[in-house]
Amino acid sequence: MSNSKHYLWLIGFSVLAFWQVDQIAHWPKSIQSVLLYAPYLIAALGIFISIYLNRVQPIFLLLTIVVLNFAMAYFLPANTSKTDVLTVTAFYPLLAIFLPLNILLWILLPEKGVMSKPYVFSLLTVFILQGFAFYWLMDNLPMSTILTLAQPVGTSGVTLPMVPFLVTIGAWLLIVIRNAFQNTPKVLDNTVIFVLILLAYGLNQYVSFGVLAWLSVIASGLIILSLVFDSHQIAHTDQLTGMKGRRALFERFTGLGRKYAIAMMDIDHFKSFNDRYGHDVGDEALRLVAYQLARIPVGHPYRYGGEEFTVVFPSKTANEVKSVLDEMRIQISEVPLEVMEKGKKAETRVTVSFGLAEKTERSQTPEAVMKLADEALYVAKKAGRNCVKVYGEAAKKTSDKPAARKKAPAKK
Ligand code: GH3
Ligand code: MG
Ligand code: MG
Repeated sequence: MSNSKHYLWLIGFSVLAFWQVDQIAHWPKSIQSVLLYAPYLIAALGIFISIYLNRVQPIFLLLTIVVLNFAMAYFLPANTSKTDVLTVTAFYPLLAIFLPLNILLWILLPEKGVMSKPYVFSLLTVFILQGFAFYWLMDNLPMSTILTLAQPVGTSGVTLPMVPFLVTIGAWLLIVIRNAFQNTPKVLDNTVIFVLILLAYGLNQYVSFGVLAWLSVIASGLIILSLVFDSHQIAHTDQLTGMKGRRALFERFTGLGRKYAIAMMDIDHFKSFNDRYGHDVGDEALRLVAYQLARIPVGHPYRYGGEEFTVVFPSKTANEVKSVLDEMRIQISEVPLEVMEKGKKAETRVTVSFGLAEKTERSQTPEAVMKLADEALYVAKKAGRNCVKVYGEAAKKTSDKPAARKKAPAKK
């Protein structure tokens, strides 16, 4: 789970949020006066960013926070005279039930971006219909049901009634369990774990001035941060294989020190593989190869483009990693691929070739080393494929001229 590093800031900001809860009363009056408006401003900013980054989930999470703050400010505590006691009694537990269910709903629904108008429109409809449902329930729920919903937990410090309290815990557990079963949950998936705690606590403490607003500000801030991190991740990840892509590779290049090796890998006869089994099966083979390569014990693999991959080995020489690549090569060649041939299920395999080079006096930059690795790869192909060739070593063996690869690596 490469996303677990995000728990650092999520926990950090949440601790900061809770630590400040008791201090709000001591904040300067000027800050206190803007605090009640802050959730709306931050949410508006977040929605604006979400639209530009083509994310729909954060929009509805932020709208939920907006409605939560608005509803609490409007109905409680000053405006109770407007409505009858029963309505107010129903209002708080209902809102406390709707909150976790909404967070759960918006994070469970698929992220399809904001481009699909019918999708966004149907989500908006669900959001607005909830408002009507809420009003209807407030007016029509029988007294006995309302009293059940409003039943206190009976522990000091817990204002949330029993039913909403249990619903919140249930929703929270569902999100946690779902994340545990996802291969790589989005940062936003992990963030809502904290968002729900912050908001539920804010709702629990609604009588203390500014607590809900403050915790909403932090929750919205966490959502915005996760939005940025998720977008960064998307930009750096290759969609087909889930592996880091060329952009991430070139960023990695800037941090390499005085000693490193770089390998280029290319699938053998992949064009004829595609021709024979079809492009979709080719994609599946690519995914399987990438999956194997991703498990390489040393080095950082990237999809360079097409059916070419790059592995970067910081602080290693070519000699130190050659055997690792050779093991990887064998491992890949042993993976069975299920294919359909003439209407029958069949099994096939693909092989790969590696070219390897290291930093030397002559090749001082990662780009230069990569070029040499590519030349070694060309030699590996010439030598019959399904092998690993090291630049220099390979050139000496095959000819007295340095091997030159005529074709530039496939750009895709
Ligand atoms: P060699 O052993 O010399 O590498 O032969 P090759 O056929 O693999 O070499 P070449 O680089 O000419 O062909 C690359 C082929 O890889 C072309 C294309 O059909 C296929 N390819 C590249 N990217 C993808 C992809 O994303 N999906 C699929 N299915 N095929 C791809
Ligand atoms: Mg190839
Ligand atoms: Mg190629």
